[in-house]
Amino acid sequence: MSSDKAKVAKRFFPKITEKRWDHNLEGKIFDEWQREGIFKLKRTRRRRPFVIDTPPPYPSGTWHIGAVAQYSQIDMIARTSRMSGLPVHFPIGIDRNGLPVEIYTENLYNIRMRETPRERFIELCKIALDDLENRMVQTMKRIGLSGDYVSRYRTDQKEYRALTQSTFIDLWQRGLIYEATRPNNYCSDCGTTIADAEVQYEELSTCLVYVKFKVKETGEPLVVATTRPELICSCQLVIVNPSDERYTTLHGRQVTIPIYNRDVDIKPHPSAQPDFGTGAVMICSYGDYTDVLLFRELGLKEILAAGQDGRLTEAAGPYQGLAIAEARAKIIEDLNAQGLLVKVEKINHRTPVCSRSGTPIEIIPMREYYLKQLDFLPKLRQLAKKMVFYPDTNRQILLDWLNSVSIDWPISRRRVYATEIPVWYCKTCSAPFVPSPGPYYRPWRDRPPIAQCSKCGSTEFEGDTRTFDTWMDSSISALFITGYKRDTKLFRRNYPTTIRPQGKDIVRTWLHYSILRCYQLTGKAPFISAWIGGLGMDEQGEAMHKSKGNVVEPEPILEKYGADAFRFWNASEATHGSDFRCSEARIAGAHKFLTKLWNISRFISSFPRVQAANLMASDKWVLSELAGLVEYCANGYRGFNFFVPASAIRDFVWETFASHYVEMVKPRAYGQGFSKQQQRAAWYTLHTVLGTVLLLLAPITPFMTDRIWRQLYSKSSIHTETLPKAIWSKADKRYTEPMLAFNREVWRVKQEKNLALRDPLEMEVPKKLARFRDDLIKMHSLVTAR
Ligand SMILES: [Zn+2]
Ligand SMILES: [Zn+2]
Repeated sequence: MSSDKAKVAKRFFPKITEKRWDHNLEGKIFDEWQREGIFKLKRTRRRRPFVIDTPPPYPSGTWHIGAVAQYSQIDMIARTSRMSGLPVHFPIGIDRNGLPVEIYTENLYNIRMRETPRERFIELCKIALDDLENRMVQTMKRIGLSGDYVSRYRTDQKEYRALTQSTFIDLWQRGLIYEATRPNNYCSDCGTTIADAEVQYEELSTCLVYVKFKVKETGEPLVVATTRPELICSCQLVIVNPSDERYTTLHGRQVTIPIYNRDVDIKPHPSAQPDFGTGAVMICSYGDYTDVLLFRELGLKEILAAGQDGRLTEAAGPYQGLAIAEARAKIIEDLNAQGLLVKVEKINHRTPVCSRSGTPIEIIPMREYYLKQLDFLPKLRQLAKKMVFYPDTNRQILLDWLNSVSIDWPISRRRVYATEIPVWYCKTCSAPFVPSPGPYYRPWRDRPPIAQCSKCGSTEFEGDTRTFDTWMDSSISALFITGYKRDTKLFRRNYPTTIRPQGKDIVRTWLHYSILRCYQLTGKAPFISAWIGGLGMDEQGEAMHKSKGNVVEPEPILEKYGADAFRFWNASEATHGSDFRCSEARIAGAHKFLTKLWNISRFISSFPRVQAANLMASDKWVLSELAGLVEYCANGYRGFNFFVPASAIRDFVWETFASHYVEMVKPRAYGQGFSKQQQRAAWYTLHTVLGTVLLLLAPITPFMTDRIWRQLYSKSSIHTETLPKAIWSKADKRYTEPMLAFNREVWRVKQEKNLALRDPLEMEVPKKLARFRDDLIKMHSLVTAR
């Protein structure tokens, strides 16, 4: 046996020389792709390109591993489509407007935005963004994102902001924009109005304060429980549930509010919950959304209790100027001193907080610009129903949101690093004027676009100092990348885009606003399909958060295991659309699989690639399994659900191909006891399976597959090939079960008898596997009667 082995070693040398997959080569391979330009969009006259409305990521320092995983899946969409023969336009954009960079810059330079000259602050933000963007692009390249870096766009570039402003001017002229003073979500930390879509709810512990009010007619006390006693000054009504028998006699009476001694009505209203507090609820402007609705519904006169600075106004009397929390503590103290405090209860309260800063939201009447959306909801529902969703079930997230939208979209923000609102106001009569669309305007420093007010004749104007909500910019990415208003021919060809890939966390913002805005501007949805991915959680399935200390950083993981392992892990971790857990152990597991595939490839690379000869039964069998795999993967790729191909390929390679087929044909491939023709059949089949598996895996693990492909099969990249077709009969799949069962049985018996795998064993090959006899006997060194 040992002399045999020596002979074998002399005759077969692996063409793949590296013993292990070296993921440090990934950077070199990426540069090679760039040099060869293999991902450049090849425009053809006949075919509409496959256009990806890539999410422009926000550079804010650290990139969430879940987001990096999502971008690698978006890359798989691009690669799958290219390998399906489509010309693919995969733009790369960076979203640079808005709040996070302002906060980052304030911290970096230890300055305050509102105390720094605007021009200077903008300059500093730009510097910070350039640095953050560079780091982000490094990571994009590190994971193999095959996008168009050369014509990369930024949402703060002149052309982009000019487009945002043009669309605003267009909608303004069509009457879809209006200004109104309304109770709005306001974050005093961020110093700006925020949209409902940016409000999150958190269970925060707070005090439920039981306060004695006095029924005016009888003088008897009425105890009201509230979490916002500091807003008592703005109380305009007390409600009780109509069915609450404790209070039936109070319907239509009045109550005197403490401290301020003002009388307000007591009314029955279904919004009052009998089991919350005492069941008697004060309605003030504004403690929560119920307050807002009741003020609107009942036409109550609002009293502004809290200002934009997060402090109480003069309406609060003795508490004027105090911050909300201070005022709350002080009024509890005073109520107690006056004998009006019954008790204080600690409760957990579902509190609206700012999704950026985590600060509890105040509801404050603010004068803001609104974009009409309520009128469009029926149409948006129709569009949502017609659009293709991957997976289909995630369509419901959008429909649910559309059903809950109750106000138009406030689009003005009191920010600095964002697209300016292009409006000037007459200093005398306040009439607003918008310029003609086209250029980029900065009203806070540019000269007004008109010389004289058409209303009053004044020649003095003042530019708006506010900016847009950043979703106003990012919601038109589909228009920007298709050349809207800049390149009519391109736009006609590429709009609507083919697919919008994004996370489910921004369905109610980015997805919704994109469809709304683009429909208003073009009369069409911006994309034919939406691919909605799940979110990356920690190992326990909890959201990652700096404060929880469970953040997994992507860069060290990529360093340690490489991009292919990272990508393969993510594709095989969870079916598309569901959340996935980020765990280093699982990524290490993916790395192990790639090592296995590398080893098999190296083994196969010892044999020459030859043309088809007369195949033996086991060759036909593994090719029928391969045919099944190819079909199954094609299905997954069609739905851009990379979990399907990734997990099926792993199972096939590891369980079927490596453990059974390769073991069966090793003796034949080495020519031990078989004819030349039979040997060549093994070589042919080994290479056919490997080549097909590499092609199937190429969109998921682009680096390693390309490396092996070029060493064994072609001078040009695997990424210029097309996905394989199932050209083999699947009939012999019927032997899989009995064959695997037989092999396992042999291995079990040998183990039981303490035999090595190569040791001879007396055992018959079952009749139904007779056609595999020669390979099986050699594989297991079986000693049979015949
Ligand atoms: Zn905030
Ligand atoms: Zn005027």
